[in-house]
Amino acid sequence: MSSIAREAYKIKEEFDFLRRTKLEFEKAVQFINAEVKSVEKGIVKRLEQPFRQLTVTFPVKMDDGSIEMFTGYMVQHSRSYEPTKGGIRYSPEVKLDLITALAFDMTLKCRVADLPFGGSKGGVCCNPKKMSQAELERLTRRYTYEILPVLGPDSCVPAPDIGTSEREMGIIYDTYKMLSPRSPYASAVVTGKPLSLGGSQGRKEATAQGGAYILEEAVKQGHIEGLSSLKDATVIVQGFGNVGYNIANILYKDYGCRIVGLCDSKGGIYCQEGLNPKDVLAYKQNISPEKSIVGYNDFQPLTVEQLLTSPCDILVPAAKETQIVGTLANDIKAKVILELANGPTTNLAHETLIEKNVYVLPDILANAGGVTVSYFEWLQNKAGENWELSMVKEKLQKKMVTAYMNVVETAKNYNLDMRSAAFVFAVSKEIEILTARGIFP
Ligand code: NAD
Repeated sequence: MSSIAREAYKIKEEFDFLRRTKLEFEKAVQFINAEVKSVEKGIVKRLEQPFRQLTVTFPVKMDDGSIEMFTGYMVQHSRSYEPTKGGIRYSPEVKLDLITALAFDMTLKCRVADLPFGGSKGGVCCNPKKMSQAELERLTRRYTYEILPVLGPDSCVPAPDIGTSEREMGIIYDTYKMLSPRSPYASAVVTGKPLSLGGSQGRKEATAQGGAYILEEAVKQGHIEGLSSLKDATVIVQGFGNVGYNIANILYKDYGCRIVGLCDSKGGIYCQEGLNPKDVLAYKQNISPEKSIVGYNDFQPLTVEQLLTSPCDILVPAAKETQIVGTLANDIKAKVILELANGPTTNLAHETLIEKNVYVLPDILANAGGVTVSYFEWLQNKAGENWELSMVKEKLQKKMVTAYMNVVETAKNYNLDMRSAAFVFAVSKEIEILTARGIFP
């Protein structure tokens, strides 16, 4: 291979989320083989592949009377436990490889958080920002119909992700219930629903809240060099949707952090004195013509790259995958990175961050709060219960701290960074379950 071809391959590999996930998985398997115990080759092959990849194409009648075709996916990665669990993404960037990588990640996340689910992920290639609410409702209903053969409270249970919210989850529940009227526990077919349809208290903030609990524990245990308290710690958050807004608000309100930088897809703002996330949200929703945070208080607009490399103690990627890339990593100034987005840091960038002694709290650990409260919602739906917020938060904190300590212990025992430790922990657990189940028939 010529040096140009090798360089091109390296770039492709860095930007390919599925390839990155598989590389990390292969590394974990090699490590387990060398240091823990030998792994049956067939089990590795089984884990590399999702057990089901469903691709559907379907028409939607648009508001102007025209008909548009859309492509949707539902990938179920592992049936170590069922149902499989994972979000549904609406974005123009949705494609089979991306959804497959996210489903793989979900399996590993469920092992780290110790939840009895396999991983899955769904998505539709569309631009929800350019569609009306009525068009999105028709798209959601038809997509639900198309994935109905695999959907169910004990087979595949979706949740919100980029571009979807509790509104779409409510529509999925209604569509499922109309098409399967005698299904028991029908509300458990989807989580992240509105409270009025059996949603759980605390689900909307769960991903951010879970991340905050982990960060709090890491600081308390003195694991982040140069950061002994969250009070007045400076924070930059990338992404200002469900997860990004909520982490900024929780760190500001409950921990006294100073939110110095925020950004969305249109750009970022930075203010050394600190921002109140609620005020920025009100500007974005009610004043900005572009529905963006850019322009808030006439702060100088920054590019996303400028914001990610601005000074702060805590950097929270909460937008999408492949954002902290190799070319940026050296300029990152944060002491800790709390990965609330899935796959935000490339393997190349991660190596540089570890060399720079940045403490990286990896996605499959840091953002597991969302699927954990989804699990609580599913349990409540099955039992016909409605837990109070204080109970949800208490249980979430316990789960997150336990998951954190398990990964810390693995990292210490084997002298690994936190991402490698999370993968080794998760892959070992998954292998243990698959081995115990054996092969049907
Ligand atoms: P969302 O659609 O509510 O918000 C996404 C935000 O990111 C928007 O503000 C958008 O403007 C911004 N954004 C998009 N591209 C950007 C870019 N290049 N730079 C800066 N900002 C950009 O989505 P969400 O539910 O908040 O999810 C965010 C991330 O968290 C995703 O990676 C998702 O997979 C992950 N996640 C979400 C959940 C959940 O419960 N919603 C759970 C676990 C992980």
